[in-house]
Amino acid sequence: MKPPAFEYVAAADLDEALETLAEPSLETRPLAGGQSLVPMLNFRLAAPERLVDLNGIEELSRIEETGDGGLRLGAMVRHRQLESDPLVARRVPLLAEAAPFIAHPQIRSRGTVGGSVAHADPAAELPAVLLTLGARVRIVRRSRGGEPGSRVERTLDLDDFFLGPFFSALEPDELLTAIDVPPSAPGEGTAFDEVARRRGDYALAGVAARVRLNSGGVCEDAAISLVNGGSTPCLMREAAQALVGAEPTLEALEAAAATCAETSEPAADMHASEAYRRHLIRVLTKRVLSRAADRART
Ligand code: FAD
Repeated sequence: MKPPAFEYVAAADLDEALETLAEPSLETRPLAGGQSLVPMLNFRLAAPERLVDLNGIEELSRIEETGDGGLRLGAMVRHRQLESDPLVARRVPLLAEAAPFIAHPQIRSRGTVGGSVAHADPAAELPAVLLTLGARVRIVRRSRGGEPGSRVERTLDLDDFFLGPFFSALEPDELLTAIDVPPSAPGEGTAFDEVARRRGDYALAGVAARVRLNSGGVCEDAAISLVNGGSTPCLMREAAQALVGAEPTLEALEAAAATCAETSEPAADMHASEAYRRHLIRVLTKRVLSRAADRART
């Protein structure tokens, strides 16, 4: 399969990428790892007139500690880095736990954090994991009508970023530059799990959870989000709220898992019925909440 013809710009730095995106004569798309965009081109599901390649922009590939103890993941950080970077494992173990579930090693070596979030696929792991962690996205564009090189930046809660399947709050001239992951609080535990037909396939369903317990073992805060549980990567607020103020007993976890399954909106497709996906969501939610609570206790 061959993609439709397009112009190609290998951006040397962020300014060149932003200038290219802002230049209106050709419809332009950023190219990150290409693991979703290139198949879309080959299947003619997308036909941009120009691609601006972000792979040469060194500043987008960094993982940095933020002043508050969190992490800033540059948009071009590869999935593989999340698996192997000791700082990520120490600061945000949920990312290191979930990354190996994304596709296969070859794809993880190319695919990027920014590409996965910008692609807004409800079946992707990272959007759900980052939602559970309360991440924020950093977005930059060239100032419209301003001096060349002048930039406008905005940050958005990830929860406000996903607007529909494969549809986000990004404007065509905007670039996602980084994702800020807040520090984990004392007494917090996290977990991720999914079910796929084969290792490396997209998940039939997946669940990420975060639980914070006080010294008496009572849940003070919780977050749950789903992979393939709705038309967008989604936080399950009602289910998480059901845990707050109570000890995470087996009954409490079962009740939260049941609420999560009931309030989810999974689709039916050739791989699984809606009822089967709801069943998986219920089982996985109980499992990851239980693991997250155990980790919070220790
Ligand atoms: P690209 O493909 O380069 O871009 C994707 C989209 O995001 C494009 O529209 C592009 O213009 C836009 N974009 C990219 N970067 C930016 C940016 N910084 N700012 C603004 N827009 C941007 N993913 C999973 O989560 N789970 C899986 O199980 C899984 N399995 C896969 C199996 C196969 C066989 C393949 C080929 C891919 C699979 N993927 C899976 C997708 C993979 O994780 C991709 O890497 C990811 O979805 C997109 O990242 P990318 O860097 O490749 O982005």
